Amino acid sequence: MVSSGDFMCGFISIFGPAESDVIQDVINGLVAIQHRGQDAAGAVTFKDKFQAKKGLGLVREVFEDKHMHRLKGPLAVGHVRYPTVGLGDDTDVQPFWLDYPVGVVMAHNGNVTNFHELRRTYFDNRKITLGSNCDLEVVLYVFADALMRREADKVGLEDIEAGVKEVFERVKGAYSVVGITQDGMYAFRDPYGIKPCILGKRESPEGTFYAVASESVVLDIAGYKVIRDLAAGEMLWIGEDRVPQFRQIGKAPHRPCIFEYVYFARPDTFLDGVSVHEARMEMGRRLAKRFKETGLEADSVIPVPESARSAAQTMAEGLGLPCREGFVKNRYVGRTFIMANDEIRQRTIRTKLNPIRSEFEGKRVIIIDDSIVRGNTSRHMVKIARAMGAKKVYLASYSAQLMYPCLYGVDMATKREFIARDRTDEEIAKEIGADAVVYQTIDQMEGAVRAAGNSDLKFCKACFEGTYPTGDITDEMLGDIEKDRVAAGSCK
Ligand code: AMP
Repeated sequence: MVSSGDFMCGFISIFGPAESDVIQDVINGLVAIQHRGQDAAGAVTFKDKFQAKKGLGLVREVFEDKHMHRLKGPLAVGHVRYPTVGLGDDTDVQPFWLDYPVGVVMAHNGNVTNFHELRRTYFDNRKITLGSNCDLEVVLYVFADALMRREADKVGLEDIEAGVKEVFERVKGAYSVVGITQDGMYAFRDPYGIKPCILGKRESPEGTFYAVASESVVLDIAGYKVIRDLAAGEMLWIGEDRVPQFRQIGKAPHRPCIFEYVYFARPDTFLDGVSVHEARMEMGRRLAKRFKETGLEADSVIPVPESARSAAQTMAEGLGLPCREGFVKNRYVGRTFIMANDEIRQRTIRTKLNPIRSEFEGKRVIIIDDSIVRGNTSRHMVKIARAMGAKKVYLASYSAQLMYPCLYGVDMATKREFIARDRTDEEIAKEIGADAVVYQTIDQMEGAVRAAGNSDLKFCKACFEGTYPTGDITDEMLGDIEKDRVAAGSCK
């Protein structure tokens, strides 16, 4: 059975004044984080009862005017999905909710690593059949089970605390969670803080609105002021008194995902106090130094849109070269990664990025991208650059060599798919047809994020180093993931 860990997803949860309807803010917030998942979207609100709308597709495709009239109330949770293990279907679309034994709604970003084991031990033993293949369902049941045992008339801080403790005890992996009950809003950041989770507040004549989201940009766009990121393993409850109450439940070290800074988050987001744009610009500066060390010479730096733009500017400045737009992106094609298999992915890249001939003809170009995973994108960029008459084509990656699968939320690839695996940089260059490839080192990549704003941060770098901070990843799990992905057709 394939579990569809809702890997790289985005969420938002809002608690507004009693008479307010928050759905519009939720939808706006989801549109702001559409880049975190374009496969499915959903929202659940509460006013007297839970109301839901979920579906496959983009936020704008799923929600229509008629739904807005139905999705009433001051409490809501919204989610955008990006499935990786398994392609997911509409039964797996978040948020999930239960009316019984307690009314609770939940959405998450991350991946439960002991999903299969929990299914066998915790659920099968109790004769509970899971209704979906989504790992959030196990989090929801474990949480609701703990709440039910407390037999409270109303869910309050102590109940939520008991639920989070139980989840942290039983559920392994990386998962940031937001949700509502009939009485308030809760959130907890995953035990190692690998996934982001940020709280904001908006004052209006109607009263105070609170929101918890995956990225700060959601709060900015909806007019919320950032209060703060939740700490690793920290929970939040806002009940009827509307006072945010925090509890530190987990004790694990904070290891935010470095790939959020590299690729996943929007550049106008701040994660754990660090501007993603600043971090990428610093990566570009450092990559310029690296390029200089090679002794290679070039005429311009060309970003692969969109993510590489921040770093391309500073890399070009560092090398005293112009930064040029050489590829025009058709933004209506969708992300190549979420395409069902490699063949479709390759075909789609072709329609996605079109070159501007004059930026290549007779030039020595550095094409900069955030990362090289399987090498499809770079191979294609190099091919186009040559077809446009480039004299030399260098491929620069402002992250280091990706070599290990992410088990916490980023769809990377299985081990054998990584182009950097078991290849030297020269072999990689040959493989993608470039004159040379230049990678950032892991140390410089980390140093760049720290220099951009938070010198104390230590990261989850599992995809670069193969060391998994949760400490519970076995070769068997890696093998299972590989089998799941092959079975699901998400890789070949
Ligand atoms: P590839 O073509 O397999 O080498 O993938 C690299 C390209 O995909 C780069 O242009 C990245 O911007 C992008 N990318 C890297 N990681 C991911 C991811 N987890 N999901 C979607 N796109 C990604």
